Amino acid sequence: MPKTVNWQEQMQSVVGAKGFTSAADDMSPWLTDWRGRYTGAAAAMISPGSTQETAEILKIANENSVAIVPQGGNSGMVGGATPDDSGQSILLSLRRMNRIRAIESGDQLVLCEAGVILQNLHEALADEGQRFPLTLGGKGSATVGGLISTNAGGTQVLRHGTMRALVAGIEAVLPDGTILEGLAALKKDNRGYDLKQLLIGGEGTLGVVTAATLRTVPALIDRCVAWIAVDSTDAAYRLFQFLNRRTPQSLEGFEIIPETCLDSVLRHIPGTRPPLTGAHRWNILVELVRDQADAQDPRTVAEALLAEALELGLIEDATLAASEQQAEDFWKIRDSISEAERAGGPALQHDISVPVPKMARFINEASPVIEAKFPGTKVAAFGHMGDGNVHLHVKAPPGVQPLEWMRDYGNRITPLVHDLVIAAGGSISAEHGIGQNKRAELERLSSPGRLATMRAIKTAIDPKNIMNPGKLVPLASGHSGS
Ligand SMILES: Cc1cc2nc3c(=O)[nH]c(=O)nc-3n(C[C@H](O)[C@H](O)[C@H](O)COP(=O)(O)OP(=O)(O)OC[C@H]3O[C@@H](n4cnc5c(N)ncnc54)[C@H](O)[C@@H]3O)c2cc1C
Repeated sequence: MPKTVNWQEQMQSVVGAKGFTSAADDMSPWLTDWRGRYTGAAAAMISPGSTQETAEILKIANENSVAIVPQGGNSGMVGGATPDDSGQSILLSLRRMNRIRAIESGDQLVLCEAGVILQNLHEALADEGQRFPLTLGGKGSATVGGLISTNAGGTQVLRHGTMRALVAGIEAVLPDGTILEGLAALKKDNRGYDLKQLLIGGEGTLGVVTAATLRTVPALIDRCVAWIAVDSTDAAYRLFQFLNRRTPQSLEGFEIIPETCLDSVLRHIPGTRPPLTGAHRWNILVELVRDQADAQDPRTVAEALLAEALELGLIEDATLAASEQQAEDFWKIRDSISEAERAGGPALQHDISVPVPKMARFINEASPVIEAKFPGTKVAAFGHMGDGNVHLHVKAPPGVQPLEWMRDYGNRITPLVHDLVIAAGGSISAEHGIGQNKRAELERLSSPGRLATMRAIKTAIDPKNIMNPGKLVPLASGHSGS
C-alpha cells in the first residue's frame, strides 16, 4: 500500500528543509509576543521563500482546515502574531521573503517583499535619494507585511498618513491559495471594492500579504527639531493649529510629552538630559523638514514661528536642536517613554484616538475621572497629538504586586478608558490593531452594523476560518475558531 502523506509532510516538501521546522528551540522565540503577554504553541513554523510557495502552503492548509498564523517581525503590540496554545496551528513566517524587487526613484515607488525589515528599507532607499516616510520604535524588527497588516502609523502620519496612504499596490495569497495580483501602482482604479484596503489592517485574517508597491518621497535635505514647553493641553492644541496653518508642507511631527513622562525618562534612561531648564507641565516635540530644494530652510521657519508663538503667549519656552545629534537626543526622549514607564512600575496601556480638536479636552477630562475611580493610579497621556492619537497609560499605585494588580484592575480600568474614548467619538485602537488583546472590547463597543459587516467579510473570504483565528474579528458564537 502506498504511504499516505500527511499535510505537514506536504508542506515540508513545498518549502524544503530550510523553510520548515517543528523543533521547539527554533520556534520558541517566535511564540511569545513582543510585550510578553501571550505565549502560544505551533505544530510547525513554515518560512516560504516565494509567493508561489506561500500559495501552495495555504492551499494545503485550507484543504486540511489547518490554522495559519502569519508573522513578520513579531513586534506587534496586541498579540496578533501569536498562535493559540493548542499546538495545532502553523506559524507562517514571512521573514525569508525579504527582497527589495525594484526601486523606481523617478516614479517614487519601491516594490518589496513582505519580509523586508523597515530599517533595511530605509537604508536601501537612502542610497537612492529616497525615503519611505513611516518610522516607528520597532523599525529594526517590523516588516513590510506586518506594517501593512496592522496599518501601522508612527511619528510621520501627520504629513504622510498611515500605511493606507503609502501602499500603492499589493500582492497577496487568499486562504484557498489563490494569488491576488495587484502590484501595479494605479492612480485611478474603479473596479469596485478596494481589496487592497481590506488587506491593509486585516491583521492576517483575510490572507497573506506577500509583496507590495510602496510610495516613497525624496530624501530629507534637512530638518529642524524643536523642544517646546506649554502650560496646558489646550495651549498644545493651539500651538498645533498655529504651526499646521502656517507651515503645513514642512510640519512632520507633533508629539506631546507630559512632565511626568519626561521625568521618568530622565530617571530611567541613561544618557538623557532635559532639553529645557525649569519645570514645565507639558512638552511638545516638533519636527519641521525640507525635502524640496526650493523650500525654506526649516530652522529659519522654526525660529520665526516660535518667536511669534512666544509673543502670542502660546508657549512658555523653546529650544531648537543645534545639531543632528541633539535632534536624535530629543527624539530619544520621546521614543524611550514606554521603556521608562515600564521601568517605573506596572501600567495599563491604551492606544487610543479621538478627533484631533477634541484631544486636549479628552486628556483633561478623562484623566481625573480615571484617577478618582481608581485611587492611587496616575494617568500619563503622550504621543501623536497632531494625529489625535495618544498612548494613555494608567500607572498602578506605588508598591502593588504587578501581576495581581494587572489581573484585578485590568478588566475594570481598560473598559472605563474605552467607554470614555467612545463617548468622545474615538477609537479604541489608533495604530496597534486589535489582535487578541482588544477583540472582546471591539465586540462590546462596536455597532451591530460594523460587527455584522466585519463578520460577513471574514466568512466570505475565509469560510473555514483558517486565517489567524481568534484575532481581530469577533465571530458569532458557534463559529469555529471564534
Ligand atoms: C518599540 C516599538 C514601538 C512601536 N511603535 C509603533 C508606532 O509608533 N506605531 C505603530 O503603528 N506601531 C508601533 N509598533 C508596533 C509594531 O511595530 C507594528 O504593529 C508593526 O506593524 C508590526 O510589524 P511586524 O512585522 O512585527 O508584524 P507582526 O508583529 O509579526 O504581526 C502583526 C500582525 O500582522 C500580521 N501579519 C504579519 N505579517 C503578515 C503578512 N505578511 N501577511 C498577513 N498578515 C501579516 C500578523 O498575523 C499580526 O496579526 C511598535 C513596536 C515596538 C516594538
